[in-house]
Amino acid sequence: MSGHQIFEHSLNVRLQGRSEQQLQRKRRQLQSPQQVTVLIDGKCLLSFCSNDYLGLANHPDVIAAFKRGLDDYGAGSGASHLVTGHSAAHSALEEELAAFTGRSRALLFGSGYIANVGVLATLLNDKDQVFQDKLNHASLLDGGLFSGANFRRYPHKDMKRLDTMMENAGAEGLRMIVSDGVFSMDGDVAPLGQLLDIADRHRAVTMIDDAHGFGCLGKNGGGLLEAAQESGAIIDETRLPVLMATLGKAVGTAGAFVAGSDALIETLIQFCRPYIYTTAMPAAVAVATRQSLQLVKNEGWRRELLRTHVQRFRKGAAELKLPLLDSPTQIQAVMLGTPERALAASAALEQKGILVTAIRPPTVPPGSSRLRLTFSAAHSEQQVDQLLSALAELKLPPLAAA
Ligand SMILES: *Cc1c(COP(=O)(O)O)cnc(C)c1O
Repeated sequence: MSGHQIFEHSLNVRLQGRSEQQLQRKRRQLQSPQQVTVLIDGKCLLSFCSNDYLGLANHPDVIAAFKRGLDDYGAGSGASHLVTGHSAAHSALEEELAAFTGRSRALLFGSGYIANVGVLATLLNDKDQVFQDKLNHASLLDGGLFSGANFRRYPHKDMKRLDTMMENAGAEGLRMIVSDGVFSMDGDVAPLGQLLDIADRHRAVTMIDDAHGFGCLGKNGGGLLEAAQESGAIIDETRLPVLMATLGKAVGTAGAFVAGSDALIETLIQFCRPYIYTTAMPAAVAVATRQSLQLVKNEGWRRELLRTHVQRFRKGAAELKLPLLDSPTQIQAVMLGTPERALAASAALEQKGILVTAIRPPTVPPGSSRLRLTFSAAHSEQQVDQLLSALAELKLPPLAAA
């Protein structure tokens, strides 16, 4: 066989493994804006699987701001932030994000994945130790691995284990605890107070990725930290030095940011290779995001409505005895176990005009394939009920039988 044939053969062996395990992924083609009723692969479906939680991805004010941004700055940013790609719009957005999160400074990244990998690889090296929840987002796990730090994963939200792990780990190097704020596949919330107490006890620092909390939690949409501070905690940048959140979910545009002290942000600007060696996100994205952030802050009714939908869904799902994970947020998981069952449920819902993707390993641990449902302020009550009726007709067996 030629080199090329050997190469193609090895690729095909890998691909065959994926499809034999029912783990092959397919990309659907969206032919409409991201909204609750989408045109996808030529079908009009009611979607419960976008992260556009507040219904801002297709909001007229955000679109108008995007267009204004294009007129003012053109389409491409043309260079990295450290050369000539850093616009006044990027800078204004960074200042607004810092003020919103109560941090000294914020730094924009083109995506959350890049932000997490960049931050962890920059702040940690092989003398350091990083402790992560087993269910953390892939980008945090990858960042921990790429950093070369001694990497330990604790069972999901198991604070006793984390405490013991840190007790036994020794005190060398920087020690960092890293957690999702709202877990992206289960929808539950990190025990923030306990995490910060453990960090204090072991003289460690904490990083929170609030990708799914930012915009959705807290009275003004400031996320998990704002929600925690409403019950009296003070979580400033000395207590939680590294805060990260994304802009492509509740905020409805694209990109991500890291917020913290002046020294943290300056360190990233000087040393974070995934920040330095990449073209800045288009300035128009920053202009649109500034507009979107105003809507996030000023239109609290979106968060209220989201909460109402989640409560309505959970109440209905309990009546149907659906195998629902215990989540208070807009991410709700119906646990089905095997990939086959998750795919079958997703296909059956699609027959009824409802789009819910099956989530399978390696995105979730083996045996925990599920339907991941996400709600949006743009859904109506009637659409939530439509979802419940469709789920009722599926006659899903309870979790114990899965
Ligand atoms: C979506 C997500 C990311 C990645 O953000 P992108 O901007 O989509 O790259 C990071 N962390 C968590 C917890 C996420 O859910």
